[in-house]
Amino acid sequence: MEYCKVFLKPKKEESLLRFHPWVFSGAIQSINGKPEEGDLVEVYGANGQFLAIGHFQIGSIAVRVLSFKPASIDEAFWTERISVAYELRKILRLAGTANNDTFRLVHGEGDNLPGLVIDMYARTAVMQAHSVGMHMARHQIAKALKTVLGEELQNIYYKSEATLPYKANLGNEDGYLLGGEVEDIAVENGLKFYVDWQKGQKTGFFVDQRENRSLLEHYAKDRSVLNMFCYTGGFSFYAMRGGAKVVHSVDSSAKAISLTKKNVELNFPGDPRHEAYAEDAFKFLENMGHNYDLIILDPPAFAKHKNVLRNALQGYRKLNAIAFEKIKPGGILFTFSCSQVVSKENFRLAVFSAAAQSGRSVRILHQLTQPADHPVNIYHPEGEYLKGLVLYVE
Ligand code: SAH
Repeated sequence: MEYCKVFLKPKKEESLLRFHPWVFSGAIQSINGKPEEGDLVEVYGANGQFLAIGHFQIGSIAVRVLSFKPASIDEAFWTERISVAYELRKILRLAGTANNDTFRLVHGEGDNLPGLVIDMYARTAVMQAHSVGMHMARHQIAKALKTVLGEELQNIYYKSEATLPYKANLGNEDGYLLGGEVEDIAVENGLKFYVDWQKGQKTGFFVDQRENRSLLEHYAKDRSVLNMFCYTGGFSFYAMRGGAKVVHSVDSSAKAISLTKKNVELNFPGDPRHEAYAEDAFKFLENMGHNYDLIILDPPAFAKHKNVLRNALQGYRKLNAIAFEKIKPGGILFTFSCSQVVSKENFRLAVFSAAAQSGRSVRILHQLTQPADHPVNIYHPEGEYLKGLVLYVE
């Protein structure tokens, strides 16, 4: 197969020689041919040396690299990459275990598949393309996925309407590529969840908080818990299993709250310790009393782009300041940021300012991040996005 060839400016090959998987448009000297967004292209250095093959896209990232060696990007290629990813999840004891069938199978660059995310919920894979190239390859990828997972996989739901950068004439309606209508109950560390991948946020669940939820369980005994930005209740069930006295779950989305209630019934039918509120976070925090001694703050990404970073940091500071002001003495705060553009240092600084504003004595107990099924490719540090702090507030 003949591909268009992308030639880099002199010296611009360095990041590729260090296996960084993106080619920025500013690094390109010339293109041999007229690639369309999503096409496979080969990348060459100024001296004509082959560097990589990847998906072409329009925008500041011009190529997302699939291989640093010449390779045929076909069903066998996807099968190989997905099977490496699956083996890793087995090593992590996430796949093929009785008390867990919820995990991220493919984490984009972290699994050497830039632009592709696949989350597993019991026998359903939810597949999300973040690049047109991955969108074009979706049927091949779906076949490869079935080859790797075999009978463990019954449904593949493709959900990319909200994640594809360029939508014109792609025909990218969300829908099943394999199987169909099912209401699946997934299990995470022995706790059950309905996952609504069709209408829910992201792929239907926030798989990346699994380990942080487990940690919370250890601190929950006899505490009054506020799970702010609860979505479908993830942290709440761990708190209940951990022996919390009361658990209040808050989210501005009524749909999320109704799923939270359904999930409580699934795990703790009729348990009076839990209550859920569909309310705005800031309103709830301003109006609440000083009753909680375990608070979780897991807001949506306040900054999606670098240019709104300042506002985002203000947002984190303001949010955490109310929590510091209201949490009971001896309280524990789990606070997170999932904004990729907010660095660990910046987040910590925002939380530090909030703590200082309250004047209370605050200690860092744990520094949290994303779990191992969201691996960070060492050559692509941008893949690290989830940050959390567990704080003891006197
Ligand atoms: N902690 C959750 C994930 C949180 S995602 C889990 O473990 O699954 C962020 C959530 O914040 C979303 O559910 C979104 O509906 C909610 N949200 C966004 N803005 C909000 C606001 N102003 N007040 C309350 N909730 C909000």
